[in-house]
Amino acid sequence: MNEIDQLLENNRRWSERTTKVTPHFFKSLAQQQTPKFLWIGCSDSRVPANQIVDLPPGEVFVHRNVANLVVHTDFNCLSVLQFAIDVLKVEHVIVCGHYGCGGIDAAIQEEPLNLSLVDNWLGHIRDIAGKHEKELNKLSGEAKSARLCEINVLEQTENVKRNTIIRDALARGQTLKIHSWVYSLKNGLVTDLSVD
Ligand SMILES: [Zn+2]
Repeated sequence: MNEIDQLLENNRRWSERTTKVTPHFFKSLAQQQTPKFLWIGCSDSRVPANQIVDLPPGEVFVHRNVANLVVHTDFNCLSVLQFAIDVLKVEHVIVCGHYGCGGIDAAIQEEPLNLSLVDNWLGHIRDIAGKHEKELNKLSGEAKSARLCEINVLEQTENVKRNTIIRDALARGQTLKIHSWVYSLKNGLVTDLSVD
């Protein structure tokens, strides 16, 4: 069996298993989604949104990109935000970074990755590293990378807060909380950096 056939086989088994445990699971999910959470996370394969918070399909609306960035002009991210806030009316936006993020590490390095598109994307993190240079220069190696992961999450959270979709929703009195999380690949635990 090749790798893809294996995935399809996994899928069939998962569907069977899920239906056995909850007979109407797919039927009710197919009719509507009512997630309370929007997850903005990194594309890293080790940081899967639903599994980390132990929630089944239907519970988390997800946007992932390299290094969990919220860029003001990224129509992909903006579309996800608008749909999540205005249509699904999620109550929580979670920006979740992770320690040991390859995107963060690449941005710290002096040498570009020589992947022109990704290097441009990582330019956003280099800007943040420049802004917090004073603090970051006191650190090195893993500690520097970890602190930049945290700073990046806090900066992206600020970008969420400054976003017009979010501001409009808050002005309408919509219930909405924004959270800054960092996930550890080493122990699977989330640290909440949120400040009220
Ligand atoms: Zn990452």
